[in-house]
Order: sequence, then structure tokens, then C-alpha cells
Amino acid sequence: MTRSETLFEQAKKTIPGGVNSPVRAFNGVGGSPLFIEKADGAYIYDADGKAYIDYVGSWGPMILGHNHPKIRAAVLAAVENGLSFGAPTELEVRMAEKVIEMVPSMEQVRMVSSGTEATMSAIRLARGFTNRDKIMKFEGCYHGHADCLLVKAGSGALTLGQPSSPGIPEDFAKHTLTAVYNELESVKTLFEQYPEEISCIILEPVAGNMNCIPPIPGFLEGLRALCDQYGALLIIDEVMTGFRVSKSGAQGHYGITPDLTTLGKVIGGGMPVGAFGGRKDVMQFIAPTGPVYQAGTLSGNPIAMSAGLAQMEALCEEGLYEALADKTKRVAEGFKAAANKHGIPLSINYVGGMFGLFFTDEEKVTRFDQVTQCDAKAFPEFYHGMLDEGVYLAPSAYEAGFLSMAHGDKEIEATLAAADRVFAKMAK
Ligand code: PMP
Repeated sequence: MTRSETLFEQAKKTIPGGVNSPVRAFNGVGGSPLFIEKADGAYIYDADGKAYIDYVGSWGPMILGHNHPKIRAAVLAAVENGLSFGAPTELEVRMAEKVIEMVPSMEQVRMVSSGTEATMSAIRLARGFTNRDKIMKFEGCYHGHADCLLVKAGSGALTLGQPSSPGIPEDFAKHTLTAVYNELESVKTLFEQYPEEISCIILEPVAGNMNCIPPIPGFLEGLRALCDQYGALLIIDEVMTGFRVSKSGAQGHYGITPDLTTLGKVIGGGMPVGAFGGRKDVMQFIAPTGPVYQAGTLSGNPIAMSAGLAQMEALCEEGLYEALADKTKRVAEGFKAAANKHGIPLSINYVGGMFGLFFTDEEKVTRFDQVTQCDAKAFPEFYHGMLDEGVYLAPSAYEAGFLSMAHGDKEIEATLAAADRVFAKMAK
């Protein structure tokens, strides 16, 4: 037994499923998860001392690579001054100014401690501001695990929400409408059905929780126009895409202006952080200026703010996003070339520092139902082949892959050489 396997058995006795967040358990690919001891640059190291080239990046935030010297130094310096005060600090002001400078649609911002908190708070604010109860989301988009967001569509997709977890009363879920990502018609239909009841649309501007699906041309613009027509707010959830797809998020990349934006892990540089912000008139509606309640004892924590600020400042370096996009393209196109060489059908998507691999004959994957129809056996085989080769990918066919600036020629070439060997085996 490896040390990871031993730790997993031990963990299962005291932690449900042995993990503190479900996707870590390797349910999507089978086998036992790696327990991680440390990480540096493009590499993570498991409890058995084996090194892996990492394409998870703590699920997104490690854009500069793990254990970046500037972020580490900022955290260590902040620790000297105490860990938490529950009172305002200058660091929070600097963080707010930095976020607003990078994402111009955010006129004001409030810090929270996770992506879930950010989306949950933004939804409450949108409902309070518009005085409407219903929200619209898209099948296959994940926005954290708040009750109103853990809702998927029924078989016809355009149905009233059914909870996707026990513990969420149907009375709550019925206010969540689910539309089809990249299909504007489905959104129009729901607005026509409930013209004065929908408070907001929330979406991932590049879907990263049904693998990686960018918006088709006109989709985001169409959502903006429909929200304006029906008096609903547009919430762009950039928890994954913020500062990964471009310096100003996916909204900057695609030139779309939301009313509210949610941010997460990336602005904490790896510390537990989230934020939501947007139009000043809407943001003024939260306590203490407005009637919508929202709060957090550890919100704006000084260590997290220091880590986040160091990361955001480093991300503003000239040419960084072009370089990140170029690395991502090389990896994604390289995977496709290697698969095709061995006669394995593989479709790819990539944008900024994120990519998706789909085991399918389809030329382009733009919808959730195409993702669910991919070859379910191919992914786990590919996954474990790559893991044996020392390449760590997200352990599910529904997750995007992430590059960092620490991924250099050496790591990219080693990854593609490994993929070539794994596809060769799969082809047999
Ligand atoms: N929104 C999006 C788009 C996400 O990808 C995630 C998590 N991956 C969340 C919200 C929830 O964030 P957290 O896990 O920090 O609560």
C-alpha cells in the first residue's frame, strides 16, 4: 500500500469519504486519491514523495505556480502582525482598489471567504434589489453549494428547478430556473414565461464545471440584452475565470459588462477568499448602507488579503496573459495531435489559462449534453495513464484543466510525451 492509500483508509474513519470536498475522492476516475505533501512551481508532491506536473493548480488559483516567492513573502510578513482582527484594515482598501482597477464593471466590492459565499450573497442582493424571487442559471454550471444554486434541470432542461441534493426543500428550488448554456432561445422562453419574476441570470462566462466550454459568439451579448429588456441583473461568476482568462476576467476578454461579478480563489492566491461586486447603486443595497444583510467574521482577513494582493500585483506584469494563453494552446493542441496520431477521437477547448479535453467524435463541444455523451470509459483510462506518468489532471471528466506561468518548455514537452505513450496504450 502506498502512503496515500494508507492515509485515505485512515481518513475515511474520521472524515466522510475521507475528503473535505467530494471531487477530491477520485469518484470520477476510480482508485485512491493522492495525498499531497507539498507543491512548488509547476509540481506537486504526494505523500510517497513522487512528483507530478500539476494541471489542477488548487482548482484554479495557482496561476503563478505553487509557492510563489512573492506570495510566500507577503504571507510571512503579514503573519508577523497578527492573524485576524475583525476590524477594517488598510489592506482591504488596497485590495478593493486593485480589484476595481482590474475589473472596471465592479464599482464597489465586498470580500467574503469562499466562492460559495460570493455567489450566495450576490443572488440575495439581486433578489433584494429587484424585489423578485426567481433566478436563472444554466445546466452544467456550478456556482458553489448554496441551496438555490444546487439545482439542475429535469430531463427537458427547461423545467422548474428540482433540487439536486436532499436537504434542499422543493419550495426553495422552485425559484431556480434552468436554461441551456449557449442556447439563447432557452433563456428567451423562460423570460417570456416569467417576464416580471426573474431577478437575475447567473452564469460562468466560460463554463469550467462541465469541463471547459467557452461561450459561442453572441451568447453573452444576448444575455445582456435580455436582462436589460426584462429588468433582471446579469451576474457573471468569475470564481474560476477571474484573472485566469484575462487580466480583466472573462468579461474583459469577451467585452461584456455585467451588473454584478463574483470572484473567488484566484484573488486569494491560494488562501480562502471570495468577493462580489458591481454597480454602485446595487452594492449600496447591502448592509450597512442598505437593507440586504450580508456579513463575515473573517471577511477581508489580513493574511488572505496580503496573499491576494501579492498575486494580483504579479498578474499585472506586461505580457503575462499572452504567455499563459500560449502555453495553454500548446498543451491543448498537443493533446489533440497526440490523440489523433493514435486514432483516438479527441475534441479540445481552450481559452486563457484553461482547457478541456473531450473524448468524442464531435468537432466542437459547445453544450452540456455533448459533454455527457463523451466516451465515459476513455477518460478514467487516460487519467490513470497520465497519473502513472507523473502528470496530475483534475480527477473528473467534468472539470477544466489549468496552466500556470511555472509550466515551462520542459514540463509541457514532458506532458505531451507522456500523453503520446498513454494514447498509444489506449489505442491497443
Ligand atoms: N463558482 C464557480 C464558477 C466555481 O468554479 C466554484 C468552485 N469551483 C464556486 C463558485 C464555488 O467556490 P468555493 O468552492 O470556493 O465555494
